[in-house]
Amino acid sequence: MTHPLKCSYPEGYEKKCLNALETALKKVPAYHSWKSADIGGKNVFSRYKALPLLDKALMNKYGPTGFVPEGLDLKKALAAGKVEIVKTSGSTGDRVSNVWYQPWWDASERSSWKLNSSAAQVCTGSHREAILASPLCVGFHRKDKYLSREERSLGRFLFLNERVNPVHWTERHMSRMLSELTEYRPVILEANPSYLARLSRFINRNELKVYKPPLIIFTYENPSILHQRQIDKAFGVPMASSYGSTETAYVFMQCECGKFHQNTEHCHVDFIPFSGKHGGPQTGAILVTTLANPWQSLLRFDIGDIVTLSSEACPCGRNDGLTLDTIEGRAVNITTSSNGRAVTQAALDRAIADIEGIAEYQLIQTTPYNYSFYYVPEENHIQKKLRVSLRKPLVASYGKKARFELLEVKGISPDPPGKYRLTKPLISINPRNFLETSYQPFPFTEKSKHPHYEFLS
Ligand SMILES: [Zn+2]
Repeated sequence: MTHPLKCSYPEGYEKKCLNALETALKKVPAYHSWKSADIGGKNVFSRYKALPLLDKALMNKYGPTGFVPEGLDLKKALAAGKVEIVKTSGSTGDRVSNVWYQPWWDASERSSWKLNSSAAQVCTGSHREAILASPLCVGFHRKDKYLSREERSLGRFLFLNERVNPVHWTERHMSRMLSELTEYRPVILEANPSYLARLSRFINRNELKVYKPPLIIFTYENPSILHQRQIDKAFGVPMASSYGSTETAYVFMQCECGKFHQNTEHCHVDFIPFSGKHGGPQTGAILVTTLANPWQSLLRFDIGDIVTLSSEACPCGRNDGLTLDTIEGRAVNITTSSNGRAVTQAALDRAIADIEGIAEYQLIQTTPYNYSFYYVPEENHIQKKLRVSLRKPLVASYGKKARFELLEVKGISPDPPGKYRLTKPLISINPRNFLETSYQPFPFTEKSKHPHYEFLS
């Protein structure tokens, strides 16, 4: 059995974690009722582990004002333009309002660049960036007309796209993106990988020559191996995934060797293992605590993703905080095998990656045993051969009792607000049931008496 790497932390990290904890418990209204769960003592990390988790329901109940430390005047800061309120772009049920403090966000981004040698080399904070993502997540959205380059520019940022669904992009629209890249010559191309993969398939199909940015950074979603391959073929430049959220800023950055390193200057991460049956103990959920954000105190925030810890030191030499082999994808995207085991989207993606002839896919679980596999074939594939070769990785992932329906389609649309889901359960799955029982933290609720936790299903 392999074991996760022992964590080491930079100087001053423990003190920062202690400050974040004490500020939250003493000065932040949302955590007043958490004090009874604090075990005290010298080991700050044990104190963290004994606390409940912060989920979006609690964020909505107290936010955004309940997460501002006492003594700060939010109204005055808002009026002065020092901070603003920013809503996350999730679907309506999990949208959250945050107090947004730009200097902290920028500092978090800057410290994440140190975790990748290309980013450390080329990112200055005043460098040009082109962004290709859903305009509902970032940039300018128009349904009725196309916008000029000037209308899609904001300071050093150029937003390449104003249309939500890449399936409906026209060749003219994609050609415009490519000429703008050539003219603008961005240092960073920041992209939602499924959006950039769509553009890359267009480049590859037409054998186009494109501008090569020094670094492509993936955000917004966890990239599929197929998408990464298409992007690599089209651009052939270094690529790295930057992982974080509107609530937490930059949490992990992928280094030049491919592993993910924790942004220890700006966050603490608690790892909660899945049980052995579901892929644990090195695969599990993460809770993020933000460090040194004066305007919003987040303690053990359930960011909603599953990761796998690394058991070997990274060849790049970075060893502060958690090191991850993979980000396994959103907890809400977990499907289950026919015998009830958790299948993360990255697990299925690794199984599908070696099948030739597929441009992209989406697996939808409709019952505990039934799965619809939608796929977009590559040109010149042999349909019968492709369908036969698909069965093997699907059965390996979901078991012999699983029933598959294979459906060839022309394109796969992202879910709102513009995130492509490789896997999607239509049955009710509670990802917290996959956690190792002895490590399970629970959302806090004032209604329950003893113990202070209640299981949310
Ligand atoms: Zn590394």
